[in-house]
Amino acid sequence: MPAETASMPTLLDRALGAYLGLAIGDALGATVEFMTPREIRLQHGVHRQIIGGGWLKLQAGEVTDDTTMSLALGDALLRGAREGRPHDTTLIAEAFVTWWRGKPVDCGNTCRRGILRYLHEHTLAGPLSDGDGGNGALMRNLPAALATLGDDEAFERVSLAQAHITHHNPKSDAAVLGLGHLLRDLLVGAGPAPAQARIGALIADWPVFRFQPYRGRASGYVVDTVQTVLHCFTQHDDFEAAVVAAVNQGDDADTTGALVGMLAGARCGAAALPSAWLHRLQPAVVRAVRTQAADLLGLSHQPAPARDD
Ligand code: MG
Ligand code: MG
Repeated sequence: MPAETASMPTLLDRALGAYLGLAIGDALGATVEFMTPREIRLQHGVHRQIIGGGWLKLQAGEVTDDTTMSLALGDALLRGAREGRPHDTTLIAEAFVTWWRGKPVDCGNTCRRGILRYLHEHTLAGPLSDGDGGNGALMRNLPAALATLGDDEAFERVSLAQAHITHHNPKSDAAVLGLGHLLRDLLVGAGPAPAQARIGALIADWPVFRFQPYRGRASGYVVDTVQTVLHCFTQHDDFEAAVVAAVNQGDDADTTGALVGMLAGARCGAAALPSAWLHRLQPAVVRAVRTQAADLLGLSHQPAPARDD
């Protein structure tokens, strides 16, 4: 077998790379969430170790809502398939309620408001709102991309349904679909040219996401998040360099780190993830991610992956 074929990541390896990359970026970035780049430099130099702490006082290797809400969405999609209710939005909303009642280490204000609205009004979407422009729907959409691979219509329908439970905003929707399609391209092995074309198409439709020149804003506003994520992902071919660049921008560092980790992890595959970071993640999170990645791919229209873990 030629060397380049032997080293080509499989679909499952890319899916695992994306999901584990998300968790790595979350765990690494949470330490410096809400700090400025200058504060990070003074305290850490270049922040590149998964050490926990931060404003959430995390244990080393602990993840936050970015990863745990993704796992909740994934659980709901798997449960729906098992119970003959595929893509049922009520199951997704119920999974978010269960997640929230489990006292997660963090829950964004817009997510909390949407979950409480569902509990009180039983509505699966709030009204269109300028106030829903945070990145909370974007950060957790990876399971929808995996479960619907090969079916773009289902991907868009499930993504918007899960998003609107808490975030009903056109820019959030555009970000969820735009980064989601880019992720799906990478999962099936798209190289740099198709990935650039996908990014170019997103920016042609939504110039607000233009990231060159990069403005250096990395807040939880979905526009700032998308700009930072695309800047770091396109500037750095290497997984570690891309994620380090994202989290050292500070501010919503766990979420920008998670999303860059997701895209860069899909690009390189799990086998190429830095083992020092992987071994720092909480084992229960790694187990849940590995199981979900394979099971969600099993729901997709792609050939069922062979479990290699
Ligand atoms: Mg978080
Ligand atoms: Mg965050």
